Amino acid sequence: MLRIHCPYCQELRDEPEFHYCGEAHLARPEDPAGCSDAEWGTYLYFRRNPRGRHHEMWYHAAGCRRFFNVVRDTVTYNIEQTYAMGAQPAHDEAHE
Ligand SMILES: [Zn+2]
Repeated sequence: MLRIHCPYCQELRDEPEFHYCGEAHLARPEDPAGCSDAEWGTYLYFRRNPRGRHHEMWYHAAGCRRFFNVVRDTVTYNIEQTYAMGAQPAHDEAHE
């Protein structure tokens, strides 16, 4: 079982308290009506599925009920860091 540090509660808690919510840092198109069907479809349905380091959004459902971000390795399940929504990961040259 994963142990996840919630950046709001400032506690290391068990995974069943959380829900995985998909890829982090997805930017909604500024003008959705101006998007082509392909652009809108890409935004809605296409996600990265890397083998290795991944930026994810999680929800602390049985705790503070807030969303936050996690940098996790999808192979080893090692959690590198967690950080609040709206923030960027610390020491992260690979993240654009
Ligand atoms: Zn929390």
